[in-house]
Amino acid sequence: MQGVILPGNRTVQLKEFEVPEPGHGQVLIKTKASSICGSDIRAIYRAHVGTGPEAYRPGTIAGHEPCGQIERVGPGCRKFKAGDRVVIYHINGCGTCAECRHGYMIGCDSEHREAYGWQRNGGHAPYLLAEEIVCVGLPDGLSYIDGALCACGTATGYEALTRMKVGGEDRLLVTGLGPVGLAAAQLGKAKGAAPIIGIDTSPARRNLAEHLGLCDHTFAADDLALRNILDVTGGRGCEVGIDCSGAPSARLLVLQAARRWGRCAFVGEGGTVSFDVSELLIHKQVTLFGSWVTSLKHLEDLVEHLDRWGVHPEVTCTDRLPLAEAARAYELADRGQSGKVCIVFE
Ligand SMILES: [Zn+2]
Ligand SMILES: [Zn+2]
Repeated sequence: MQGVILPGNRTVQLKEFEVPEPGHGQVLIKTKASSICGSDIRAIYRAHVGTGPEAYRPGTIAGHEPCGQIERVGPGCRKFKAGDRVVIYHINGCGTCAECRHGYMIGCDSEHREAYGWQRNGGHAPYLLAEEIVCVGLPDGLSYIDGALCACGTATGYEALTRMKVGGEDRLLVTGLGPVGLAAAQLGKAKGAAPIIGIDTSPARRNLAEHLGLCDHTFAADDLALRNILDVTGGRGCEVGIDCSGAPSARLLVLQAARRWGRCAFVGEGGTVSFDVSELLIHKQVTLFGSWVTSLKHLEDLVEHLDRWGVHPEVTCTDRLPLAEAARAYELADRGQSGKVCIVFE
């Protein structure tokens, strides 16, 4: 089979691989959808700048948002069988450290930790070998693209909103309307928050968020952004805010626009921020969460809730391309003007 590897320097290469054989406790998955995440662009595609858990092992099949159907199970599998539709929680932790016991394999720092698409083969190939314990059943009401988006990006938005306990009493600010920001807006809306206010530098991304009905107001990320947010919240600001951009100015805006006793989360990766702690955090009684992807349990909750709500992350997918056009898929994702880009099979 052909698999996509990312040599760096904005290049994509298709390479020949053997279809793997599932060993003990493993499943062979026929890949149906494998979307591109911002971290693939930031830490691997442009250049291999990732370190630690974000270090890409050269020659590894990329793609850490895979979803598909089980083709075959190896000996010792206890739950899944051929034909089951599954999303992959994209990290295999050691299974024995405190973070793994908690379900947050993302936070495992054992030498045995491996992420799909980073240190072990991921979803950009027709078949994927996965450990059964990181498979989460995909409800029939959700599409394979819905599932792929849940494997990292949508789950990242869900985790932060869950930690902030977002509900119907909240006004939600989202800075950065890339795929994770769109997911946060969509999930915030599903949880009852209103209005949803979106901020981005890109007019195309603001238009998409409004066109999809995910944001009630969108504003440019400029000097007027804070004033605009206060104008549509009666001068009080937002009960909850999430930064999905990683930009220092956007992180600052989330804190400035927070209402007293507000809850804020940073999920956009990289960079720094500098702010007046007394003015923006202490005296405003603000709670600030750092939140990294999600847990196995919350991924399971996410797909259950999406199915019950009839909410489909797939609506944020603007570009679907076959594996043979992976190079174009990465170019589109790198440009940062579209919604989610997904490699699809069949
Ligand atoms: Zn662990
Ligand atoms: Zn990701």
